[in-house]
Amino acid sequence: MAVTIICPNLQCGKTMVAEEQQRGRVVRCVHCQKALMVPAPREEAFTVPPPPPEKSRKGR
Ligand SMILES: [Zn+2]
Repeated sequence: MAVTIICPNLQCGKTMVAEEQQRGRVVRCVHCQKALMVPAPREEAFTVPPPPPEKSRKGR
């Protein structure tokens, strides 16, 4: 299945299609030659866990 990626270059912003086997790899935008990463299948694994609630002890 092809992967649709959007060029991160704001001046370009072109949409292009990468091949499935290019996932997790860096490809170059065909329009502006900027290097961009094709998102890996499990991108949600990259999400940063929320920081633990800060216990601010007041008083004392
Ligand atoms: Zn581009």
